[in-house]
Amino acid sequence: MKKDLFHIPNGIIYLDGNSLGPMPTAAVARVQQTLTAEWGEMLITAWNKAGWFHQPGILGDRIAPLIGAQAGTVVIGDTLSIKVYQALAASLKMRPDRNVILSDTGNFPTDLYMAEGLIKTLDKQYELKVVSPTDVEAHLNEQVAVMMLTQVDYRTGRLHDMQSLTSKAHVNGTVVLWDLAHSAGALPVELERCNPEFAVGCTYKYLNAGPGAPAFIYTRPDLIEVVEPALSGWMGHENPFSFDMDYVPAASIERMRVGTPPVLQMAALDAALDVWEGVSLSDVRANSIRLSELFITEVEKRCADLTLLSPRDSAQRGSQVSFTHPNGYAIIQALIAYGVIGDFRAPDVLRFGFTPLYIDTDDVMQAVEILEKIITDKLWDQEQYKLRATVT
Ligand SMILES: *Cc1c(COP(=O)(O)O)cnc(C)c1O
Repeated sequence: MKKDLFHIPNGIIYLDGNSLGPMPTAAVARVQQTLTAEWGEMLITAWNKAGWFHQPGILGDRIAPLIGAQAGTVVIGDTLSIKVYQALAASLKMRPDRNVILSDTGNFPTDLYMAEGLIKTLDKQYELKVVSPTDVEAHLNEQVAVMMLTQVDYRTGRLHDMQSLTSKAHVNGTVVLWDLAHSAGALPVELERCNPEFAVGCTYKYLNAGPGAPAFIYTRPDLIEVVEPALSGWMGHENPFSFDMDYVPAASIERMRVGTPPVLQMAALDAALDVWEGVSLSDVRANSIRLSELFITEVEKRCADLTLLSPRDSAQRGSQVSFTHPNGYAIIQALIAYGVIGDFRAPDVLRFGFTPLYIDTDDVMQAVEILEKIITDKLWDQEQYKLRATVT
């Protein structure tokens, strides 16, 4: 759909945009400009002159339409782990008489780790209840303060029904926090219609803003002026430059800011968001389903050793397809050596992301061809492909 706007190295088929999006070509000049014309020439005056200070809200407003939210409800900053902590802490404050945080085993570990860490800092005894993704609904009750879920399971690609779970949680008076790490830029998200209190997500996965790009946080409009940000940093103060001794949160989504934003990475994010101008997320979704179905059909026909882990029904799947194989790690390493980049998730999952902005039918067919050859000729069965690197 927009392949010419990305730098994809020659000879590479990139099926890992669900983990780190490729570089939008325009990011080079945009970051360069921020380095030389802004930081270089304007020095500290760039906070005003180049508008750095207001970028977190401006970029939030650009992300909002991609997740079905209105302007003034999204702000960027920090990493997703931090934003999870912030939203969860604010959610717990809203239900002081309850003591359960409900999540599922499909959640990304850092979300659960952040919850564990947060609980330890609180006087009250909270229980982090982690159930299987299909059991979440059955565990909703009036003890549950917060339901904290990632919409698309990072390992299997299983997609939660946001609308239905949110309204069921609300029937019980539970606060809802969605992690959109694998949703934003992958499929249409309708936050406002689904009505959760909070949502958070990444910009370096499907939004292609580069390694370490800041996360975003959404707060429902009616709560923006009442949530208590546990991470009460100066950038979220109503007037950071009055340097008051006491914290007073901003009367806008800016209260969810913490400290100094990553200016260079925001420049890359700004360029990455230009790519989305005029793109319809329903077209992206339709193409992602088409490419994923083609991949599943061809892989099952040609690589019988691989077992589909993702839901077969595309309506229940995000924009990635996972298969399992006992030698998954070595197969992925061999695939990378042959120019097809996917990734591996312990213990035996081969994961492939389908990102229609820069992946097309030819890429899928070529990737399957190479995968078939690696499996039938056992090309993966070499020591060099079995050595575990730090990052898988
Ligand atoms: C990728 C991902 C993260 C990453 O968090 P960082 O703090 O940005 O490293 C967190 N949660 C989910 C659900 C993810 O998919």
